[in-house]
Amino acid sequence: FSGKKTAQAVTDNMMSLRVRDFQSIPVVVEENVSVYDAICQMFLEDVGTLFVVDKNKLLTGVLSRKDLLRTSLGKQDLNKMPVHIMMTRMPNITYCMKNDLLIQAAKKLIDKQIDALPVVLEQANGLEVIGRLTKTNITSAFLSLAENHDI
Ligand code: ADP
Repeated sequence: FSGKKTAQAVTDNMMSLRVRDFQSIPVVVEENVSVYDAICQMFLEDVGTLFVVDKNKLLTGVLSRKDLLRTSLGKQDLNKMPVHIMMTRMPNITYCMKNDLLIQAAKKLIDKQIDALPVVLEQANGLEVIGRLTKTNITSAFLSLAENHDI
């Protein structure tokens, strides 16, 4: 195998990876949940990003670790503050779909300097959250390219 052929094979494999094959289960909270409860949820579910949904389960926001940390530095009562006040909200949410190429999702994570994307399904009145795609998912996809090789 020439180096050139090998590189082409790696690219071909990479371009066949889809979000649906590597996505994780999303962890969602409702808009009126308190910042305190969202922090508990983040620890309990062991995730770095929570997605916020409305009563119809449609995506309205994103909460990162630092969003919650920043809010915790203030003097407000975290039990009384609902997450919709401090979340990053629609339409400023970057997302992907399950059939997207993984490489496209990876580009969004890097370009926007974020850790996770909600995987969504387009509904008539909004976006339904069906998955979570993180940098960890990209790392396991990277590792899958080396399957059948000793590492
Ligand atoms: P952290 O803030 O813990 O470093 P991120 O880098 O993922 O985690 O988040 C940086 C900022 O971008 C946060 O304010 C967060 O709300 C926002 N953010 C995270 N994910 C997304 C996303 N998919 N779309 C839009 N904004 C996002």
